[in-house]
Amino acid sequence: MRITRYLMVILLWSLLQCGPCLCESGQKPLFQYSAYAVLAEGTYDGDLTFEELAKHGDFGLGTFNGIDGEMIGLDGKFYQVKFDGKVLPVEDSMKTPFAMVTFFSPEKQTQVRDISDIKALEGTLDGLIPTKKHFFAIRVDGTFTKIKARSVPAQTRPYPSLEKVVSGQSVFSRETADGTIVGFRCPAFANGVNAPGYHFHFLSSDRKWGGHVLECSLENAKVALQDASSVYLVLISDK
Ligand SMILES: [Zn+2]
Repeated sequence: MRITRYLMVILLWSLLQCGPCLCESGQKPLFQYSAYAVLAEGTYDGDLTFEELAKHGDFGLGTFNGIDGEMIGLDGKFYQVKFDGKVLPVEDSMKTPFAMVTFFSPEKQTQVRDISDIKALEGTLDGLIPTKKHFFAIRVDGTFTKIKARSVPAQTRPYPSLEKVVSGQSVFSRETADGTIVGFRCPAFANGVNAPGYHFHFLSSDRKWGGHVLECSLENAKVALQDASSVYLVLISDK
């Protein structure tokens, strides 16, 4: 894990040295703020505003300082799913302790049908991605026949671990919903920097509910994939 972190920091250093050349070379980098292992141990206050985050991408997921709900970035806007399920627009001045964003530009788009559960969705996506050695940004637009999503309650200091926060989650379920999954797939070698495998957040078409996806099934949907072959990692200051 240390080696991975080291490599990521080198990537960041390279990017800072050569300015926007990664974007100019068409590499469509994924921007990540903080590391999953750091969030998981209870580091819930970051210095990065959403105004700043928006310079690195307008599609993605994450959370807010104090772990105040689930974040979804979609079609150029950021949304906050509060613990009570309300979806609010995100102010530029709000800050995040963990976020992943990109300017979504998929190389691959396809239609999928009759996905029975989240494992089946992950299996379908596994068959579509060309390599498990890269990060992928994933967008799924469609009609869901079941979707179960959660949000978490805002915390005050001293902060508990993420595991404890999640044990107090609120869960929202719908039998039918039109909407969008915003997600990422992280490679196994990213363990600690991120969580290997898939991470999905959902936002309904009417932008009225959503959250971190726990379960889903769908009738038909359009899947779009972006291969993020470079990662721009900014580590949170320890305080
Ligand atoms: Zn999540």
